[in-house]
Amino acid sequence: MPDTARKILKEVFGYNEFKPLQAEIIQNILEKNDTLVIMPTGGGKSLCYQIPALIFDGLTVVISPLISLMKDQVEQLAALNAPAVFLNSTLSQEAYSRNVNRVRSGQAKLLYVAPETLFTTRTQALLAMLQVDCLTIDEAHCISEWGHDFRPEYRKLVDVRKKFPNAVCVALTATATPQVQEDIKQNLGFKDAGHFLASFNRENLFIRVVPKINPVDQAIEFLREFPEKSGIIYCFSRRQVENLAETLASSGFSVRPYHAGLPDIERKQNQELFIRDNIQIIVATVAFGMGINKPNVRFVLHYDLPKNIEGYYQEIGRAGRDGLRAECMLLFGYGDISKIRFIISQKEEQEQRLATKLLNAILRYAETDACRRKNFLTYFGETYEKANCGMCDNCLSLNRQQTDITVPAQMFLSCVKRTGERFGANHIIDVLRGSKSQRVLNFRHSQLSTYGIGKDYTKKQWFHLSRQFLQKGLLKQDPEFGGLLLSDKAAGVLRDGEKVSGKIEEDLGKIQVSKAELKDYDVELFQVLKKKRKHLADQADVPPYVIFSDRSLIEMASCFPQSNASLLQIHGVGQAKLDKYGKGFLSSISGYCHRKGIKENMPKPAVARSVQNPAAATPRSTQAAELLNQGRSLQEIMKIMNVQEPTVIDYLGRYVLNGNTISAEMKQMLLKQSKLPENIQRKAFDAFVRLGTERLKPVFLDLTETASYDELKILRLVFLSENRPEETKKNPGT
Ligand code: ADP
Ligand code: ZN
Repeated sequence: MPDTARKILKEVFGYNEFKPLQAEIIQNILEKNDTLVIMPTGGGKSLCYQIPALIFDGLTVVISPLISLMKDQVEQLAALNAPAVFLNSTLSQEAYSRNVNRVRSGQAKLLYVAPETLFTTRTQALLAMLQVDCLTIDEAHCISEWGHDFRPEYRKLVDVRKKFPNAVCVALTATATPQVQEDIKQNLGFKDAGHFLASFNRENLFIRVVPKINPVDQAIEFLREFPEKSGIIYCFSRRQVENLAETLASSGFSVRPYHAGLPDIERKQNQELFIRDNIQIIVATVAFGMGINKPNVRFVLHYDLPKNIEGYYQEIGRAGRDGLRAECMLLFGYGDISKIRFIISQKEEQEQRLATKLLNAILRYAETDACRRKNFLTYFGETYEKANCGMCDNCLSLNRQQTDITVPAQMFLSCVKRTGERFGANHIIDVLRGSKSQRVLNFRHSQLSTYGIGKDYTKKQWFHLSRQFLQKGLLKQDPEFGGLLLSDKAAGVLRDGEKVSGKIEEDLGKIQVSKAELKDYDVELFQVLKKKRKHLADQADVPPYVIFSDRSLIEMASCFPQSNASLLQIHGVGQAKLDKYGKGFLSSISGYCHRKGIKENMPKPAVARSVQNPAAATPRSTQAAELLNQGRSLQEIMKIMNVQEPTVIDYLGRYVLNGNTISAEMKQMLLKQSKLPENIQRKAFDAFVRLGTERLKPVFLDLTETASYDELKILRLVFLSENRPEETKKNPGT
């Protein structure tokens, strides 16, 4: 990798490291080898051709089918002072000529064009006069009939290629199927092309499937976990979109609909409002999302069952492009299956077979008890080695043992009965938990004997339980009104005390939205910086993320940079952005810090990437480790740092997980602190070997609760400093 590329990464884009495969891809392009890049959304495809474009002497032509995306890319590049322009049919005559002149004079290094513009004689004549060093084809799957978005005009690209024999050709797509990949290579006449296939695993997406019981309430409950965050809700039909958007709006959410049936202007406007953070939520059909580059989408909710895994994967892929944790939830109702089956039945026979196959695959995904991530990665032909991804609903509850849930079952069933078998789970749970909601009071359900008897379980736990009662056939759902009905089996439980076993959801707590966003940042300063960003963005008429990503702001709000040099260390701050926005942001930060008496807190360079990786070492963690290395006891460190023991252990964990070691004396000291008898310690180490270190619960259970979590955390620290397997790097939490 030439140093130039790395330098551009830092100085122009403000990033410290390449994402997986980027360096290799850039190298290959610079050597002028044709290159096929297959990366999931958010994988960082654009940088792969943008950096070579800035290095090549001549022009890089980027062919992109999506006009909105083109504009977005050019705006983002402009914010970085990277010279790029676009040509398409939306430009005024004047703007068009201006852009042509910039290309002709060699000022622009990147030219984005729509295919139809590329084929015009005007554009061809322009390009014929220039040195074209690279032809980039974005969304290259459009060339394949097997892709989900075939565009016949893409087939003509091979002719364009021939006119520029000296230009290297780069094709990029997020479509994972091998057939499409082969098609791309063949159609573009790639011979010994470099073929770069990135993993389709998006580690920062938490994925879950929840039975659809009371979808409106479930959606609202979900949305409440994301105040002021951006997200997308996908629905099956246009009508559904309109209804849900209206319901949510009347519940006070900042939301707009999007579907192909809306007038063009309204649709575009709603999309723009979303991208610019003027509204929080977009409720949409699958028509929404192509060409959306918004990096800070924090959640994607599938209100209805998607038709196939490819589509589903693309849709959830729009969450968390910035690499921070994002939540994807699918509401899975059996009613949806019949809707899709009906649509399939209207198709030609051959299409029916394919569509059924695709539907079955998504059903297997939705119904699996095993890791969801593994399920769809396998579908895409990838092998996923980890036994537990730690970021899907099943992996978080896999190790939970079946317990006796007869008592909660009796409570729930009897409450269903006493309320007349007319209500959904939400209402039943409200009654069980003694809610004073108007609805409960209106129906006089506060006077029932089951009112308030279920306070021991959280609402979430009750939902999870009710899901199991449905699955076990103790309850049925009224097909017409959706209320819960008792089945014959329920009588056995209620009357004869038949045992029910199942799982009680560990309270996974809040949807843990902010967990990966590093607890250590100053939320108030973040809000200040967000406001500043919004103001600047509106002034420049661009989306806020063109100025800075959320991640950049979060880092600022955690490190409090007070000088140009410090600001340059922040993720996403390169020279151009420093020149443009540095002063403004620095003055906001300084003003805030001055008022609050906060000092700059920049990490040492080696640990600068604290936000990116939730487990990364922070200045505090290094401080804790240094104190320990000086021979201080945990108690002393607690006192010096003014934190509790678990926090110290967490700090030390981060330190060790980031490849640092602790000395033998320290280990001895830690072992002594753990107070556990040696045989139990040995058992714990043995359990770590067998069960991994990612989660403590399995080890805790394995030791039949002879060691507490806090003690296990200390032992894990010792264990990890000796054995540091790759896959235990990520998760120091429980
Ligand atoms: P894709 O086109 O593959 O969906 P993008 O090119 O839009 O992905 O990149 C996704 C996000 O990742 C963008 O916000 C981009 O700025 C960011 N990004 C790209 N490369 C890096 C890198 N090396 N380090 C940090 N962030 C990066
Ligand atoms: Zn999993």
